Amino acid sequence: MQVDLHTHSTASDGKLTPLELVERARASGVDLLAITDHDTTAGFDSLGDASFGSLRLVAGIELSAKWRQQTIHVVGLNIGRDRDAIHEAVAVQQAARRTRAGIIATRLAKQGLGNLTDRVEALASRISIGRPHIAEMLVESGAVRTVDEAFRKYLGSGRIGDVKDEWASLAQIIDWIRAAGGTAVIAHPEKYQLTRTRLRELIADFRAAGGEAIEVVSGRQAGPETRALATLCEQSGLSASSGSDFHQPGQHWAELGSQSAVPDGCRPVWERW
Ligand SMILES: [Zn+2]
Repeated sequence: MQVDLHTHSTASDGKLTPLELVERARASGVDLLAITDHDTTAGFDSLGDASFGSLRLVAGIELSAKWRQQTIHVVGLNIGRDRDAIHEAVAVQQAARRTRAGIIATRLAKQGLGNLTDRVEALASRISIGRPHIAEMLVESGAVRTVDEAFRKYLGSGRIGDVKDEWASLAQIIDWIRAAGGTAVIAHPEKYQLTRTRLRELIADFRAAGGEAIEVVSGRQAGPETRALATLCEQSGLSASSGSDFHQPGQHWAELGSQSAVPDGCRPVWERW
């Protein structure tokens, strides 16, 4: 079975509408798909009760969490979208996103990069806003040529627009997911560039707080990374998840359903639903 339990739509920073995303997943042979937009379930919600043949949809969300001064992403899978806990999570996280985007817009204006405040506010009222959206505004205004350049000069680590977020704590995020009947998964563990010791500490804290799975396979990840994560997964007694982290066509390292299989010995997280 081909699963993809980590994808993004236009409800956050993805380029395909939820419907386009599902159609592309189906054409790619995905059997089980989770739409996991950043801090919102709006993409999934917009599909209503539509059915997509053999493709089964799982309600999901990707919540940003604070763990020891670091941002960690937690995917919530098989959540009850109508639960109060999810509404509360979305409200708190969206407020943090709007505040951060507003501060970034103010800082960019002070640098003479134009007044983006109104556009930022308008976008934030519709979708889950993040730095990639602001980068695109800078491209459109002609301040930079590419999104990469926007991050390199203004939005990336240590730059003027690198505003720290006030995300909820890791424990709070896991509580929300569990209260909504969902399964909490550490997203792409290799992306945080933690030492092995720190990654073990993260996994231990995550598990102690009620987290249940690790994304052992994230996109077209190298074999040794997958094996190392599979070992950590087995040792910690957590289940294994697999997702592309798809955002848009053309990114071959994160194409829908392109991940390798979860290694033998890992317990697939989707077997519990
Ligand atoms: Zn993601």
